[in-house]
Formats: sequence, C-alpha cells, structure tokens
Amino acid sequence: MNKGKVYLVGAGPGDYGLITLKGLDCIAKADIIIYDRLVNRDLLKNAKPGCEFIYVGKKSSNHIMAQDKINETIAESAAMGKVVIRLKGGDPYVFGRGGEEAEVLYDQGIDFEVVPGVTSSIGGLAYAGIPVTHRDFASSFHVVTGHAKKDDSLDINWESLAREKGTVVFLMGIGNIKHITKMLVSHGRDPKTPVAFVSNATNYRQRTVKTSLEDAYDCVQREGIKAPSLFVVGGVVSLSDKLGFYERKPLFGKTVMVTRTRKKNSELRQKISELGGKTFELPTIDIQDKKDIGKTLIERLESKRYSHIALTSHNSVDIFFKNLVKEGYDFRKLAGIKIASVGSATSRAIRRYGFLPDIESSQSTGQDLAGLILKDIGSGGFVSPSVLFPCSEIASRVMEEVMVSGQVDLDRVDLYTNTVNMAIKDELLEILKKEDIDYITFTSSSTVKYLVEILGDDKGLIRDIKKVSIGSITSQTIRDLGFELDIESDQASIDSMVSAILDDVIG
Ligand code: SAH
Repeated sequence: MNKGKVYLVGAGPGDYGLITLKGLDCIAKADIIIYDRLVNRDLLKNAKPGCEFIYVGKKSSNHIMAQDKINETIAESAAMGKVVIRLKGGDPYVFGRGGEEAEVLYDQGIDFEVVPGVTSSIGGLAYAGIPVTHRDFASSFHVVTGHAKKDDSLDINWESLAREKGTVVFLMGIGNIKHITKMLVSHGRDPKTPVAFVSNATNYRQRTVKTSLEDAYDCVQREGIKAPSLFVVGGVVSLSDKLGFYERKPLFGKTVMVTRTRKKNSELRQKISELGGKTFELPTIDIQDKKDIGKTLIERLESKRYSHIALTSHNSVDIFFKNLVKEGYDFRKLAGIKIASVGSATSRAIRRYGFLPDIESSQSTGQDLAGLILKDIGSGGFVSPSVLFPCSEIASRVMEEVMVSGQVDLDRVDLYTNTVNMAIKDELLEILKKEDIDYITFTSSSTVKYLVEILGDDKGLIRDIKKVSIGSITSQTIRDLGFELDIESDQASIDSMVSAILDDVIG
C-alpha cells in the first residue's frame, strides 16, 4: 500500500513571505497539515480545499507526552497514504524536535523529506537590525537553547561560551534569563556586553529592547518581556539602531481588518504588509456563481448585438470571463463591444483577461458609470445601442433606472449570489477580543452590512476601531448603520485606500 509521505517544513519566523518556495508548494499539495503555535496562520490559506489542519501548539505541562502524540499523529496519517506536512516555526531542525520526528518516520519506514526554513535565530535578528556576524564585531555565532531539561540544568559549556567572542543567541531563554546571565558573567563575559531581546521577531508585534548583560534580568521584569523572544549577546547588537529597517516601516505595528473576499484581500494584504502592517482577512461575503451562468451569458450574447458591457465589480469581471471560457466561448465574438468599468480595481481585473476598458468611471457608483455610458451613446455612431450588465444579484438597480430614463435597452444578468458568510463568526469574535485592531476596511456596502449582521449583539466590538471606506456609497452605509466614518478613500481602488490609511498614520 502507498505509505504516504511526510514533509518536515520550516515556516520561517513569522513574516508571511519568509517561507521557502518549496515549503509553499508543500502546503499547496498537503492532505493534512500539522502545525505549531509559532507558524503564521495566513500560510494555511494556501492549502487545497479539503485539507485537514491539526494544531499541536498547545502549551502543555505534559510536553513529553504531547510530543509522543505528535509523532504518532504524523506517522498514522502518513500510513493512511496521505501527504502530511509537519509545519514548524523557523527551521525544523533548530530546537523544534524536528530531528526526533524524522527519526520516528525513519524507524517506521515512512518516506520523508525536510524543507529547511529561515530560523528566527538568524532571520529574526536581521529584522531587528542585528546581523548575526559582522567583521567588526563577530566572526562566529552560537545558537543555544535556554530551555532547561527536567532537572533544571542547562547542558551548556559556560566556560567556553562565556569566552566566545562571537554572537551568542539564546532561544527559549526568557524563563531562565537570571541563570543565563549569571553564568555568562561568572565565567568571564564582560557584564557591559551589549545584549538585546527581540520578541515576536518578523511580525507586527516585533519589539527590540537593548541593554547590557548585567542588566538583562532586571530588564525582562521592567519591560515585561515574554516568549517568544530571542536573547542575543554581543557587539552586533549595537548596529540595530542603524540597520533596524522593519520597525521603521510606516505601518509597522498597525493592524488592519479586511472584510472582503479572500482573493482580493491578498492584494491589500501584500500592500499593507510591504508597509509593515498586519492584516486580518475575514471575508464577510460568500460568493457563489449562479447555476449554468456561462450558458445564460452565451444565450444573451448571441441573442443580440450589444453596444456596451458594463462591469461594476472585480467579482463580476472574474465570473463573467471565467464562465465564458468554461463554456468554450470564442472571445473574438466580443469584438467591437465597448467595455465600461467602475474603478481601477475593476479595470485591472478586465485587463487581466486581455481587454482594455473603453469607459472607466473613477467613482465607485453605478450611477456615474451609467451616466458615462449614456454620454458615449449620445455621441452617436450606435445603430441600436444596448447594454449587457452582468452583475451581483444584489447590485443596485440604478444602472437600469438611468438607462430607462435615457431610453437605452439594458439586459441585466445576475451572475452570482452574494450572501453573508456566517462561517467566520467565531474567528471574527476571537480576533476582535484578542487583538488590538487599528483599522477596518470596507470595500462595498455589503461588507459593512454583513459584518454588522455577523457581529449581531457584539457589534459594539468595532465601535472604536477606525473605519475606512472605499467610496461615498460605502461611507453612507457605515453611517446608516450607526457608526462614525473615519476615513474615505479618494478613489475606488486598493492603492487609494492604502494611502488613505498611510496618511492617517503619518498624520
Ligand atoms: N525552530 C525555531 C525555534 C523553535 S524553539 C526556529 O528555527 O526559529 C522556539 C523558540 O524560538 C522561542 O521560544 C523563541 O526563543 C524562538 N523564536 C521562534 N520564533 C520567534 C520569533 N518570531 N521571535 C522571537 N523568537 C522566536
């Protein structure tokens, strides 16, 4: 029988982009992903539908048992013929018990591979502006566990470590910091040696605190430093003011909740994370194509010669074109039909299918676009103007009304259902209660209505979070539902929304 395969994959220290390409490929092909506490959860969104997730990161006093259980779960899953990804923070072989897990697989004859990762002990320091080596300060480095064994002893040669001129990095060292600093100093390390604590390295909560070796223990108490933290000892620490690029990013430490569908989110996520911010993506809308929509569209397109196709959302564009492709429609038949688009995000989506919009409204309203279409028709040259309007079932009727008033024939085709995604409720409440969210972005009226509907009696949880709207209609919905609007984007685009947030932060 096929025995399956296990990949021990390093997820990197936290920043979404710090996983390897191979690691990401593994996530995409996994049947089961067994992941730890320090793994960035956003990475899991790359899994295929139906992938099973097992979280084994619970902090447990019964750690030894838990590890046995983890090994067992991995082996059992692989024995069922599945592709199992054991996803671990940082690099799988740096203090993650990856070696033990691999041995179990070897012993049981289970096929496995290791995908190394960026370890926090090097990559985490880099994000804090601390190069682990530097010709002026350190020509070697040691990575040491600060985690004591059961009998409270650390199996460390303090003599040589204290004399070591290179950089020394302790992982899991916070609980034992008093002992660690005492041992280093008593074995001859200069008490004035610069040290730093880097907590939550490479993610939005990163914090770098510098002091001297002799003050390190007091510093942990004073500053409330907690795991996960790196403790780094050595002259390289002094470079962090100059080289600490990450904490200088303009949106560093800011949290943004994003309420639209997952796919579009990633653009917003990328832009915000590039600026150092963190997004929490919670798709409030569940979108489903209407049954046989491709066939319906083709019937319409063959029934008459349209002068215009109006597209008012990114989703409409995708669903329109993808379903035509699915039905084998020859796009040359669309030649000569003008394409009208709302906003730059919709236009960008249209361009991805090889079409250039002829008419683009910079406002996020169908009304504005309808006006532009009428104007175009008014400029003449159309024998029998008619507009195809493929849209969401909840798209506003204003497009039809304006066309009727201009005596232009319009065929509306509802492409997809657009319903409230109640499935996110638990995750949403957990995030709102646990995290300190700075901004919530709304990219349509539905995202506002649906978020409020999902929250129900808990809608007070978003009252004090700054609300960012993509345009005037969405802003109005925010106010109608009893909230204050804080920021309105100049244009209906992701870029414009991101710069509005940036302006607000920079002030
Ligand atoms: N395999 C991991 C380390 C696992 S041991 C790696 O290669 O990074 C867990 C310890 O690693 C934590 O207690 C902490 O000391 C350190 N650590 C892991 N990720 C961290 C992060 N993002 N920020 C600070 N320390 C981190």
